[in-house]
Amino acid sequence: MSSAGQVTVTFAGSGDAFGSGGRYQACIHLRGPGAAPVLLDCGATSLTALRRCGLDPGEIAAVFVSHLHGDHFGGIPFLILNAQFAGRTSPLAVIGPPGTARRLAGLMECMFPGSWRARRRFAVEIAELRPGASVTAAGVRAAAFPADHPSGEDGPALALRLTLGTTVIGYTGDTAWTDALVEVAAGADLLIAEAYYRAKDVPYHLRHADLVAHAGRLASRRIVLTHMSADMLDHLDQVRFETARDGLVLHV
Ligand SMILES: [Zn+2]
Ligand SMILES: [Zn+2]
Repeated sequence: MSSAGQVTVTFAGSGDAFGSGGRYQACIHLRGPGAAPVLLDCGATSLTALRRCGLDPGEIAAVFVSHLHGDHFGGIPFLILNAQFAGRTSPLAVIGPPGTARRLAGLMECMFPGSWRARRRFAVEIAELRPGASVTAAGVRAAAFPADHPSGEDGPALALRLTLGTTVIGYTGDTAWTDALVEVAAGADLLIAEAYYRAKDVPYHLRHADLVAHAGRLASRRIVLTHMSADMLDHLDQVRFETARDGLVLHV
């Protein structure tokens, strides 16, 4: 069944950890039908990235975190503190891999001492997802799959499959190729895939060559690449898939 156009996907941040190409770190803004928007990852630069796109961080109802690296969750303290200063009262859900509660608390206390323990007028509702589990937050169903990428001592990184209304969006997060991605992509309206390097053998990351090799098994309606290093960005003419850029808006 077609669900074209139901969800607006804005790549507020389409970059890697190191600002390659002048791009912001991972932050994908999803606005489903009749619902508050949610984020897929919230890297350290994400508040700036959202504002650059004219998107209000105060509207975000939930953040779905693929893994606990700074370029994927390092912006959450700014999101929480900004909300606090703006007088937010509606809860903010944070859904991430095992260790999300402990690592987010530590991150906030490291960056802004006292900020995690401070009284807030809104709840930060944290849910930790193991691969194979799923949860619904802010009206979005999230199913977690195992990624081959470090996330910390508490547990594995995740690939995610989100359902907004009838629209399904798969997201690899950072991961080496794993057959779990076949399930993440299966029947999805959109697969957002990391493509860090073209073919260089880097551990724990997806390469364009991996996606080309497995393209026949990735049964999503559409594939868009993100999290690209300079090696990819300097050779976009050789890339066989659609590629994201900061500010790209899709209707899926
Ligand atoms: Zn990353
Ligand atoms: Zn990472």
